[in-house]
Parts: sequence; structure tokens; C-alpha cells
Amino acid sequence: VRIGVVAETAPGERRVALVPTHVEQLTARGLRVVCEPGAGAGAWHSDDDYRAAGAELGDPWTADVVLTVTPPSTSDVDRLSPGSVLIGFLAPATHVEEITALRKAGVHAFAVEAVPRISRAQSMDALSSQASVAGYRAALLAAERLPRFFPMLTTAAGTVAPASVLVLGAGVAGLQALATAKRLGARTTGYDVRPEVADQVRSVGATWLDLGVVAPGEGGYARELTADERAAQQRRLTEAVSGFDAVITTAQVPGRRAPTLVTAEAVRGMRPGSVVVDLAGETGGNCELTVPGEETVVHDVTICSPLNLPSECAVHASDLYSRNLVELLGLMLDDEGGLALDTGDEILAGARVTANDEEGD
Ligand code: NAD
Repeated sequence: VRIGVVAETAPGERRVALVPTHVEQLTARGLRVVCEPGAGAGAWHSDDDYRAAGAELGDPWTADVVLTVTPPSTSDVDRLSPGSVLIGFLAPATHVEEITALRKAGVHAFAVEAVPRISRAQSMDALSSQASVAGYRAALLAAERLPRFFPMLTTAAGTVAPASVLVLGAGVAGLQALATAKRLGARTTGYDVRPEVADQVRSVGATWLDLGVVAPGEGGYARELTADERAAQQRRLTEAVSGFDAVITTAQVPGRRAPTLVTAEAVRGMRPGSVVVDLAGETGGNCELTVPGEETVVHDVTICSPLNLPSECAVHASDLYSRNLVELLGLMLDDEGGLALDTGDEILAGARVTANDEEGD
């Protein structure tokens, strides 16, 4: 089996789907790896590193299994062979045309974001690995933009109080943002609609903000709030937010627009120089004033909406993602290293985004 590693072309994307360490592991198992020249450059892995790990340089799109970070374009799809496998963040909800093209081309396409969140799939959970990178970088971004210290400092010129940081949405990214802000010395507070995460918030040294609006999760995810619940949440958050120097928002509901947690009125109530880092920009943002992908200053508050923080931490984001893919790939190979797609496997069935029929088989 030949594994192809694509050089990402999406603007600003620095990650690579397979790192040289894992190339070495796969080639040691008798697999061949073909790497597009420059594929690892953004994550600081040279073509020579790939060659030394046992890869050949060439066209990855003709391989039996093609690994990517971002969704392919329709012209990329034309380069794939019928019966081949494609694995990556394929964004099936928004890339309908590309998914249709993949199905027509007889490609077995697996979207990592659709891997079921069951225990057996934890090591393959790319949403989690990349969310934890995003949470870490979000805390650093907040610290960087805030015109104050995060830690408490006692100096000859006076004592500085620690910054107060509020994180809304305490999933994988939110917990990592809380932990990172805490390590930098901030006073941290976390909130989520799922009351079951309160202990996790406390376990990273943060105070749990009890707003009295709760929606116990379904399968680990939040449900969308009713209009009344939403209004109560926004009202109470508007009061709460004004007391914080930095607010990091990470709230998502699968398949929905991101909930608005920080209203324009809440931003107006914040102290000048405060910062909002909104990680939900891709699905519309958690702050009413967020401009996805932009950094703006409104009512003297800096509002940042970075869309690809994992790419800014490309070395470790790629290491983790690459490990996720190697684990997922393990489910598709038989003992001899041949391709064997077990269509009954719960993980593969969940991740598969092209029809589960015989076309292209
Ligand atoms: P996510 O990115 O979908 O959402 C982030 C957070 O936003 C969630 O905690 C959610 O409850 C919260 N949220 C949604 N609407 C909100 C609102 N109106 N107000 C406040 N908060 C709101 O979530 P995620 O980080 O991908 O993970 C969700 C959960 O799944 C986590 O608890 C995680 O531990 C769990 N998980 C389990 C596994 C596994 O068992 N394999 C793997 C990964 C994650």
C-alpha cells in the first residue's frame, strides 16, 4: 500500500498530515510513503527529513491512501484513483460539492471530524488534539493583546494584581485555555451549559461560574438552548463579563451556528483595553461583534477571531494530528499491511462521508 502525504495549499495552513517520525514507523511496517515536495515545510520538516525517514518524493494524489489536513478542491479530487482512500478534515457539512465529487470518483473518503467520540477512538480524535492546541494558543493571544500582566507581580515600583480571565465553553479547547491562562498566573473562571464539566473546570485551578442556566449534554455535546434559556444566559453573562480583563469563548453546538454568549452590550460594559478571543468564528462567533478571521477594536475592547490557531503551532499540531491519522489508518490495514476496509467497524462507518456502496470497490 502506498500512502500519499499532500502539501497543503489552503491559505495560511502550515500543518502537515504525516510527520517524518510516523513515516519511519509506517515504512518499517512495509508500507510505502510518497510525499509531495515541500509538504512538511510549514511544520519545519524538510524533504530531506522525509527522505531520511524512508519516504519517496512525488505525486501523493495517485497513492492508495491519501492523507490531508484540509479538504481537497474538486480538481484535487480528479487526481485521486477510484478505490483509493482519502483521510482528512473534509468539512462534509460545508464542502458538499467536493464530497459529491469524491463519491462520483469512487473514493472512500473519511472525515476525521466525524470519528465517533467513543473510548476506542480517543487516540484518533483529531478534533480534540487540534482543539487543545487552539485553546493553548487562545490563552497566549489573550495575554499578548491585553495591555496588562497576566500574573500578579510584586515589584519595587508597586504591586500588580493578576488579570482575570473568563473562559466560556469548557470543552477540550476551553479547558486547555483555562489551564494555560492559569500557568501564566491569571485568575481563571470557567463556564459551560453542561453542569457535568464543573469538576473539570475546578481541576485546572479555575472557579466555576454558576449562571443558573444548564443543559445537560447529549453524548458529550451541548444541546441548543431554547429562546428563553438563551435570553437568560445572555442577560446574566452581560453582568458577569464586565468584571473580567479577558474573555475566551469556545462554545459550539454540533451542526449549528455558534451560540451568541457575549452581546454588544456586554462588550460595552467591559473595561477599556479588555480582550475577547473568540474561537467560534468559523461558525459565526460567540461574540455579537466578532468579525470572523479579523481583529477589531469596538467600544475600546479588542476582539480577536483567529480561524486557524493550530496552524500557528504547526509542529506540535502536526505531531498530534499525524498520530491521530496513524491510529485511524491502523483500522484500515490487515496484518500484512494490505488495505482492508471493514465497513462494519463503528469508527470507520462513522467517519466515512462517501456512500457505503460498492461503487469504486
Ligand atoms: P465543542 O467544541 O462541541 O463545544 C465546546 C464547549 O461549548 C462544550 O463544552 C459545550 O458544552 C459548550 N457549549 C455549547 N453551547 C454552549 C452555550 N450556549 N453556553 C456555554 N457553553 C456552551 O466541544 P468539545 O470540546 O469538542 O467536546 C465536548 C465534550 O466531549 C467534552 O466534554 C469532552 O470531554 C468530550 N469528549 C469526549 C471524547 C471521548 O470520549 N472520546 C473525546 C473528545 C471529547
